[in-house]
Amino acid sequence: MPRSQVTNYLRPSSPEEALTLLRDGGKSARYVAGGADVARTLPSDVTTLIDLCAMNLSSIEERPDGIVIGATATLSEVLENGSVAGVCDGVIVDMMRKVGSPLLRNIATIGGTLASAHSWSDVIPLFLVLNAQVTFYNGEYRTLSLADAYAAREELADSIITSVTIPTSTAGDYAAFQKFSRTAYDIALLNCAAYLHIDDGRCSEVRIAAGGTPRLGERLPQAEGVLRGEALNTDTIERAARVARDTTKTADDRRASGEYRKDLVYAGVKRCLEGIAGKVEA
Ligand SMILES: Cc1cc2nc3c(=O)[nH]c(=O)nc-3n(C[C@H](O)[C@H](O)[C@H](O)COP(=O)(O)OP(=O)(O)OC[C@H]3O[C@@H](n4cnc5c(N)ncnc54)[C@H](O)[C@@H]3O)c2cc1C
Repeated sequence: MPRSQVTNYLRPSSPEEALTLLRDGGKSARYVAGGADVARTLPSDVTTLIDLCAMNLSSIEERPDGIVIGATATLSEVLENGSVAGVCDGVIVDMMRKVGSPLLRNIATIGGTLASAHSWSDVIPLFLVLNAQVTFYNGEYRTLSLADAYAAREELADSIITSVTIPTSTAGDYAAFQKFSRTAYDIALLNCAAYLHIDDGRCSEVRIAAGGTPRLGERLPQAEGVLRGEALNTDTIERAARVARDTTKTADDRRASGEYRKDLVYAGVKRCLEGIAGKVEA
């Protein structure tokens, strides 16, 4: 970002104040949190940055409805939090370790990550399957599932994400995450996540998602349908992975071909489910 471009750097102390500043600034104003994206991609007509990090929204708390992660908590703070580590045997920690580098995770925030909504985001597929709920402010406070929040993205354009809540895990909850990338620090060519609730040996709840297809991370309902009500075994895992491959819309971009991505969907879903099966047996 050319430094001379930004002539106003504002640090509001509440979402209410931040929203007013954004609306007053119109197209010339933009929220910033960690700045990992803003620093690289600021449009030339933006001259006012509204820093959301002075709003006291970085705590991570375990509450009855789940683990509430404040929007300005950094990815490192999320990764190192004990309550977060308790979700599905550490699946969020496992995923966060694959997001960029420690340097990036020290500045990037969870709110900025969800707001920037990169199609290859590692956070989004996992948070979709964990049934994350996003709270945001756009004149009033509202909470929506992450999937619904993305479906309403245009309507929520100037909203401030204030927190994201991850349900606390209970007995029978399992989840896994897989990322495919050229190098350990690179962004994903494709990623997958799966969550199962297993009751009496059967999958009573099933959520599977893929990101970087190259669309924004989304659920794979047909693959989920293969497992719902069924036992998790070699046969159902293979069938779910094949259905995921055959029904996921993939496309070419400069990183990978659509055909290769189909193979990655198959491998990612299969590895997630095999990983869960291993934990169930342990
Ligand atoms: C070198 C590099 C490597 C990366 N590697 C990975 C990777 O491997 N995996 C992965 O998943 N991601 C990766 N990322 C993406 C990275 O995680 C996101 O860019 C970052 O998380 C954005 O968070 P931030 O706090 O820096 O957002 P910012 O750059 O501050 O903001 C990003 C956008 O979100 C808006 N915004 C910020 N906070 C809020 C809020 N609370 N409410 C509403 N809008 C808000 C801003 O206006 C802006 O439009 C990488 C990024 C970089 C630069």
